[in-house]
Amino acid sequence: MAYFTDIIGQERVKEHLCNAIRLHKVSHAYIINGERNAGKEFIANVFAMALQCGQNGQNGTDGGQDGAAIEPCHACHSCKQALSGNQPDIIKVTHEKPNTIGVDDIREQINASIGIKPYSSPYKIYIMNEGEKMTPQAQNALLKTLEEPPEYAVIMILTTNLNNMLSTILSRCVVLHMRPVKDAQVRKYLMEEMKVPDYKADLCTAFARGNIGKAKLLAASEEFDNIKDEAVTLLKYIDDMDIHEVNAAIKKIIEYKIDVNEYLDILSVWYRDVLLFKATNDINHLIFKGEIQYIKKTAGKCTYEGIEIILEALERAKSRLNANVNFDLTMELLLLTIKENQQ
Ligand SMILES: [Zn+2]
Repeated sequence: MAYFTDIIGQERVKEHLCNAIRLHKVSHAYIINGERNAGKEFIANVFAMALQCGQNGQNGTDGGQDGAAIEPCHACHSCKQALSGNQPDIIKVTHEKPNTIGVDDIREQINASIGIKPYSSPYKIYIMNEGEKMTPQAQNALLKTLEEPPEYAVIMILTTNLNNMLSTILSRCVVLHMRPVKDAQVRKYLMEEMKVPDYKADLCTAFARGNIGKAKLLAASEEFDNIKDEAVTLLKYIDDMDIHEVNAAIKKIIEYKIDVNEYLDILSVWYRDVLLFKATNDINHLIFKGEIQYIKKTAGKCTYEGIEIILEALERAKSRLNANVNFDLTMELLLLTIKENQQ
């Protein structure tokens, strides 16, 4: 099932796309920009389905004002095809090389076919995930198409980083930004739709930081509890650990083959708890309520400045790892910074 009403948060993006359908003002090119797992693909799919839906033409000309009128019907031929991933006029642009979308990908999958009219639908829609991986040459090849697109063409580029996009591309696309979803909405979704117990919903919500897909992944992940336990154990005992034990802890992270970002997020949430407790002496808003004795102890030992330094070090470690700086070295530096600043 895929409806606009299933999209949690992202009111502005939803409103823009629904209005485009309702007012028949669909652009030829969209960029949806936002974090990985934030739900960009889901939104693009709903929009594509709604545009192609056999029922929607009628609703549109009726001038339907309520959201329901522009939802894909899920019953017509096109909707059924789209749901099974076989709508011939909704084309997913793929790439073989994991880290680049090259000029040939664009030529073969978009430029070569865009001139051919849609088979049976009002639009011919291209959805490209990871658009930020397009090389400049690929973007220039796409630009030629974007300069004079056929009237039925809609190209949706999903990106995590607009800085990688040429300004000439940006200026020809409607750019829509995903926003963090409110914690209360994420928590409600996890508890009501995924039947996650409240303590776990709190944790997953805190770690997801407004990213609904990430919250879902965490809630569904069996590993998550292990990762959390490892991280918390490390944090409880780091003061008493020597460098060898710290190294052993790092090895464990690798052993679990976990997304290290997740692990670092857990550490960040812990220190935000420490900061919050130090400032308010109130345990009610802490994520790690259950570990209050350790939070308290750390808050007593750390200065405000020390906590800030640790939180900054965590962010720095994350960006280093994302830039492929040596894992062991980055983690060792981080853990030493943590040790130094909480005594
Ligand atoms: Zn339909």
